[in-house]
Amino acid sequence: MTKRLSLLGSTGSIGTQCLDVAEKAGLEVVCLAAHSNSILLEAQARKFRPELVALVDEAAAKDLKVRLADTNIRVLSGLQGVCECAAFAHADTVLNSVVGMAGLAPTLAAIEAKKTIALANKETLVAGGALVMRLAKENGVSILPVDSEHSAIFQCLQGMHDKAELKSILLTASGGPFFGKTKAELAGVTLAEALHHPNWSMGAKITVDSATMMNKGLELIEAVWLFGVSPEQIRIIVHRESILHSAVEFSDNAVIAQLGVPDMRVPIQYALTYPARIESPVKRLSLTELGTLHFCLPDEDTFRCLPLCRKAIARGGLAPCVVNGANEMANRLFRKGKIGFLQIADLVEGALENVAGKQSYTREDIFAADQAARDYVLKAMR
Ligand code: NDP
Ligand code: MG
Repeated sequence: MTKRLSLLGSTGSIGTQCLDVAEKAGLEVVCLAAHSNSILLEAQARKFRPELVALVDEAAAKDLKVRLADTNIRVLSGLQGVCECAAFAHADTVLNSVVGMAGLAPTLAAIEAKKTIALANKETLVAGGALVMRLAKENGVSILPVDSEHSAIFQCLQGMHDKAELKSILLTASGGPFFGKTKAELAGVTLAEALHHPNWSMGAKITVDSATMMNKGLELIEAVWLFGVSPEQIRIIVHRESILHSAVEFSDNAVIAQLGVPDMRVPIQYALTYPARIESPVKRLSLTELGTLHFCLPDEDTFRCLPLCRKAIARGGLAPCVVNGANEMANRLFRKGKIGFLQIADLVEGALENVAGKQSYTREDIFAADQAARDYVLKAMR
């Protein structure tokens, strides 16, 4: 169970909910880090009194230093500052809720410093899963999932007698705001429509990933690494209500699922209190009020990012890193109004087919493949 927490990405959707959990659970917050939101980070620092804070953006970090001048809180800047928070001696657990590949270096820093990692930053595992898991094992570090589906799977696996008894994972997807739409209908969708998620309020990048179903593809790869299963063992099931957060099937065909109202504070809290459970402010689930739950298969012809991720993990090596890097760039271009919604999958596919990804790789290879994928997308978008 966490006692002293270092929180990376504290100003985001997961970060702010994590602070709510930390406050109610009485955890000590020793580090806070984010990209550039100095105003919110100041407010968080005044409330939680960490020893160390960091902002990647140099100008924002300077501003924060001025704002916190009357305190004894140390202020760092740059990626190096975030990595120092990740490796901070007084923290026992690092919750990484930085968005995107930017989370990789801090995850590696936390592993090297032998911190327990509560991981929301799924891009870390997608891009460099083999390396991250190997280093975590070598350093005796636990990586506890924060992503709701993976937390559900992790919860369902507690008490598993023998890994060989795990037959399959049923990874649920809400289907996002465009569920049921045809390709023709998707051609003209706007950013505002893509940002309107039916069940979850999240950061902009992951909300667009949910609309393309890229998020589920990333989660499939995340599950391969977290649970050591083959991609074929993972079945994606669309479940519109987001009540059943995922399930596991054992060798005797018994299926165990985790259910609850859609509220990220449950998986965040479980990652921080594991293996214990404590009271939570989250609403209780009433199955009788719900009455019915629905399940169906995803439409992979329309939402092509999902099969592209399957293809990437089957190819192995840095293919998932290429797909992730291309998606981060395409997702950003869509949010800036530079490309249409359907172009995201086209660009991701183009990168997967045209950017080389080594089979075995180093840390430097990950960053190089990520950059090559982004460069490809910038060239191909025109
Ligand atoms: P947000 O966009 O809401 O927050 C992102 C956080 O990361 C902010 O604190 C931001 O700081 C910080 N940040 C951005 N860029 C950098 C950088 N280069 N270096 C360091 N910090 C940076 O994202 P979410 O909270 O929605 O998502 C965070 C992660 O959690 C993602 O990987 C996402 O896939 C995953 N996740 C999110 C869920 C959710 O419900 N939101 C559910 C499951 C997983 P600043 O505010 O200063 O820009
Ligand atoms: Mg999820």
